[in-house]
Amino acid sequence: MSLTLAESRGRAALLADVDYQVHLTLAADQDTFESTSVVRFTCSQAGASCFLELADGAEVEVTLNGKQLPTAAYDGRRITLPELALTNEARVSARLPYVTNGDGMHRFVDPVDGETYVSAYCGMDNAQRVFACFDQPDLKSPIALDVTADERWTVLASGRRLDPQIPGRRRFAATPPIPTYLFVVCAGPWHSTVFEHSGRSFGWHARRSLVTELERDAEELRRVTVACWDYYTTIFEEPYAFDDYHQVFVPGLNWGAQENPGCVTYRDEMLPPGRVSDQARQRRAMVIAHEMAHMWFGNLVTARWFDDSWLSESFADYMGFLVADRAAGFRDTWVDFDAAFLPMAYDADERRSTHPVAPPTEGVTDIDTAYGNFDSLSYAKGNAVVRQLVTWLGEEGFLAGVNGYLTRHRFGTASLTEFVSALGDASGRDVAGWVDAWLRTTGFDTLVVAREAGVPVLSRTGSRSHRLRVTSYDVVDGALRPASTRAVDLGDDPVSLPEGRDRVVVANSHGDTFARLRLDDSSVTAVKARLATVPDPMTRAVLWTALGGLVRGAELAPWDYLDIVGSQLPGEEHGSVFEAVLERARRHVVTRCLPADHVASGLDMLAATCRGALDRAPAPAVALAAVRGLASTSRDAGLLRCWLADDRTDTGVALDPRLRWDILRRLAEIGASSASDLVEAERRCDPSVAGELGTARALAALPEAAAKASAWDAMFGGEPSNRLFAETAQGFWSAEQHDLLAPYVDRYLAEAPALAVRRGQSFSLIVGQAFPTIPMGTDDLARLDSALLSDIPTVLRRAWEDRRDDLALAVAVRQRFD
Ligand SMILES: [Zn+2]
Repeated sequence: MSLTLAESRGRAALLADVDYQVHLTLAADQDTFESTSVVRFTCSQAGASCFLELADGAEVEVTLNGKQLPTAAYDGRRITLPELALTNEARVSARLPYVTNGDGMHRFVDPVDGETYVSAYCGMDNAQRVFACFDQPDLKSPIALDVTADERWTVLASGRRLDPQIPGRRRFAATPPIPTYLFVVCAGPWHSTVFEHSGRSFGWHARRSLVTELERDAEELRRVTVACWDYYTTIFEEPYAFDDYHQVFVPGLNWGAQENPGCVTYRDEMLPPGRVSDQARQRRAMVIAHEMAHMWFGNLVTARWFDDSWLSESFADYMGFLVADRAAGFRDTWVDFDAAFLPMAYDADERRSTHPVAPPTEGVTDIDTAYGNFDSLSYAKGNAVVRQLVTWLGEEGFLAGVNGYLTRHRFGTASLTEFVSALGDASGRDVAGWVDAWLRTTGFDTLVVAREAGVPVLSRTGSRSHRLRVTSYDVVDGALRPASTRAVDLGDDPVSLPEGRDRVVVANSHGDTFARLRLDDSSVTAVKARLATVPDPMTRAVLWTALGGLVRGAELAPWDYLDIVGSQLPGEEHGSVFEAVLERARRHVVTRCLPADHVASGLDMLAATCRGALDRAPAPAVALAAVRGLASTSRDAGLLRCWLADDRTDTGVALDPRLRWDILRRLAEIGASSASDLVEAERRCDPSVAGELGTARALAALPEAAAKASAWDAMFGGEPSNRLFAETAQGFWSAEQHDLLAPYVDRYLAEAPALAVRRGQSFSLIVGQAFPTIPMGTDDLARLDSALLSDIPTVLRRAWEDRRDDLALAVAVRQRFD
């Protein structure tokens, strides 16, 4: 069980002035590492007791104020510290296990060159897997670090690097006060590219076997870093609070990235072999900007408890998209946001697990519960709501409030209350009222356009005030052409839109607010036939999201939606919109909402859509998305084999390693002859970790009982790394192999909880994400309900309940339209 809110509150009330000296000995060739920490702190009540966390330690020795504690003081999870003095020093030494699941000190051996990398991943409460500590966010403390490791290795961490005095030993000065979850160390023979900017040292680092990829992208990574840096150091009044700024592409990270002060870690999948698509470059820039925003929001000022994680994440998410656009020059970040990320927020807001963007503190009872809230509501909805807040307050007032907040609470912790008061002070507006309406509520309003004697009238169901733009369109030569756009403040009173008479009307055409959209009937008819002709890609994203919502709510038949996809998507010119709509159609509509015996024809229809797009010789981003789409839906084994042999498609798009593995997975999935030989041949050519994962994914997709049994054993019987498990599961479940896989649904429900218990918090989420993606019906729903009656780890339960709620909606869609 993870730390509870009550325990955290109790300990924070008792302790203060915590600081750590941590010494780690990181040997490459062992299963464990040595960890020693010296923890100094004061206690407000002499004689009281408290505890340090330390997970899975062996040979644990503890002294408190010079006295050795009995071994019984440690229970495998916590060290009880009895009879505290007013000032205390605890010394803890232990051997701790390296992990392959991304929670703690992750060890990775590169299959290309046999080099070992060890990196500490500490979010959310995994610092205790690296050193003995008070693992909660509001006991911020300086951490000094000392690492003994291979002399050839580079060791990266947050503190300023001190000169080495003993070979193989690296020392880092104490950091400013930081929460334990932001501790980091990355050790290994990294390839590095470094530069100076504004008198500060910056570095990008990646595994040595990724030298080609890092050098390929070094100039862009540097440019984006500098652009974001200059932007933030201009808008924030508080200076950057930490030392150098290192960014490391690390293996096996469970998060997309983590904002450790001055030493940000990124999934190394963000440095892909072969090619980085324009969309991947844009998203990477967004993540760079997101993590850098955390240096102020989250690191300089930290949320007191995880109820306010959203405050860091929504803000960083908003800044990430904004700054990647405004400073780093990626023009379409908001279109990508509205097309790909926002639909997930609307989905999440309809599940039982929905919570206010700012959840009540008491609702976040422990850290495992908080883990579930790193969801689309805390990121995407929070981002959309912050965007609406900025629209309402104005950018200047918003930033003034942010700066007030950062200055008042620098190096400390804060909560929503302090943020609201800083915004209110700076703007003179009723921010608290706005917060109650937008951040303390769940769900979303619906914007409704209805016609009264031909005149469109905009109203909303719900209770929030919105500032948004509405655009009216004429049909000119069969295409929708904007005739007028106006800004509207919408509250309880409907707003008449006379300019929309005899025109197609789209509310929230610029994505200003977070609300479902219900078009009037005549506009729906026009949009179904002409969506692709709307000039602004943001508006197209908004409209596709609205149509997707209608399917989810069983108001639009899945086949009608797929017909719109078939007629409108081939004409889509924006890569993000194309890819997001295609993915949604495949994963949500075809796989979930169609009966099992219609899945194949649904996929054929999507394959035809991709082919239709390619035949129009589209922009490169759309062409690549269409090729990826075909690689996962086509049934034409001959075509896919030709692509592989030529290393390019018949339309001239060059393949990249990931795409080659996607094609191999598809060939395996459809049972193409000698698919396993092709996989084996590819594996010989690609000895990288991506090749290992691609192989596992493709072989798991073979429509054969033996292949499924072997993949299952690898996932549930062995100790696969987090990545290997996830990729195998992706290959394993295939919507077209319903009959072969149906028996595995029960096995999954039976075996997943024990695996989640055994492998921990983040792995539980990965196990939850491995939920069957085959068509399921009411009997599956009943099975899942009965599985949910048993004792299931918190993180897995949350994942299953979410899937259950989605499944119930999908079953309702099928019942309504069968
Ligand atoms: Zn973040």
